[in-house]
Amino acid sequence: MNSFHEVWENVSIYCRSRIHEVAYNTWIQTLQPVELKNSIVTVRAKSDYQKLIVESHYLELLSDGFEEIFGFPITVQITVGETEPQKQNTLLDETENKYTFDNFVVGSSNKFAHAASLAVAKDPGHAYNPFFIYGSPGLGKTHLLNAIRNEIKKNNPNMTVVYTQGESFMNEILEAINNVSTVDFREKYRKADVLFIDDIQFIAGKEATQVEFFNTFEALYRDNKQIIVTSDRLPKDIKSLDERIRGRLEMGLMADIQQPDFETRVLIIRKKAQALNFHIPDIVVQFIANQLKNNIRQLEGIVNKLYAYHNLGEEPTLSGASTLINEIKKDDMPEPITIDQIIENVGSAFDVTPADICSGKQNAEIANARHIAIYIARQVTGLPLKTIGKGFGRNHATVSASLKKVESDIKRNTRIKATIEDIIKNITAK
Ligand code: ADP
Ligand code: MG
Repeated sequence: MNSFHEVWENVSIYCRSRIHEVAYNTWIQTLQPVELKNSIVTVRAKSDYQKLIVESHYLELLSDGFEEIFGFPITVQITVGETEPQKQNTLLDETENKYTFDNFVVGSSNKFAHAASLAVAKDPGHAYNPFFIYGSPGLGKTHLLNAIRNEIKKNNPNMTVVYTQGESFMNEILEAINNVSTVDFREKYRKADVLFIDDIQFIAGKEATQVEFFNTFEALYRDNKQIIVTSDRLPKDIKSLDERIRGRLEMGLMADIQQPDFETRVLIIRKKAQALNFHIPDIVVQFIANQLKNNIRQLEGIVNKLYAYHNLGEEPTLSGASTLINEIKKDDMPEPITIDQIIENVGSAFDVTPADICSGKQNAEIANARHIAIYIARQVTGLPLKTIGKGFGRNHATVSASLKKVESDIKRNTRIKATIEDIIKNITAK
């Protein structure tokens, strides 16, 4: 087991099989592992109340779970807080080390993207520039991106490599603008020898972010600096993407990743198990490959879970795998999208706060975002107008007026239509 998060996964499974499901979901599942130091494990609760409950009822269970995994006694302590500080960074660091060409399984679905990635990694700035990888979630875009990054860092320690995600790029820009520190931002991106942006689709429709990306792109490209970008769809299908950016991205090499075929899925399962030094019988491997077809992240998830059970003394069987697969398929059902999520996404697209959207403010920008959020809520949730109105603190008639307004705007203005389509895509793809 190589990370504290994996240990935590094991402990969760241990607890889950020992207490009532409702109790598990309410009190244990929502805990977050923080650190392990000198036989003391720190776990974070979301509220003082959760801390109280866990301390009074589940502390022993948790320490037993840790002891089972580690083989020595562990003291568990609970802290309280919303989010883990610097989560973003640890996440990036973890992916950075984890994803290499060595552990990327090549099959017909990704052969082309893989070969092109190797070429770019070998000769950044010269092979294919820009290089654009696209494909559905969970098929290996981020993996390839990091494999390229690792290879370039290894072979060119002097190169300045800048790696970010579309969403972070956007947030950084907004922050820089708010703090009037756009100079630092430019400095950071323009001194890159290689710029990686994962999931660029998130910058679409965001005016300031797109301008900054375009200028960065131009500056880097002019100097033969390598630009590598991923997205869940082709530039032409990112509807509200700035025309000029679209043109630039299409100018280089575009490589897609398709869904893996059966053989590739089998190989991936084997490779993931091998990395854990864990044997899964062929019949179980094939069964999983047969059942889970369109997301490699799920294949990996199931290997990790089987491994966690294995550490608790349960060897992988067909029926065990089948239960896990059913769970994954159940989780896979799209969670209903809430009005709050919609308000948040629309707010971020138009740079308006959720509170403003739900307020009575009538200035044009806010009112426009509000109309659009209402329209999207109706499209995506299909809830009755009255319920939607409640979500926005408004009555049925206002909702109806917003819908009419946006419907007529869409007819007149293709840009609005494109922006709305992208927002809906981003909300439903998450
Ligand atoms: P995406 O960025 O396209 O959503 P990721 O790159 O995050 O997908 O891949 C999801 C998971 O599947 C990762 O853990 C990654 O290592 C794994 N994965 C994807 N493709 C492959 C592959 N060809 N070989 C090995 N692992 C893969
Ligand atoms: Mg990704």
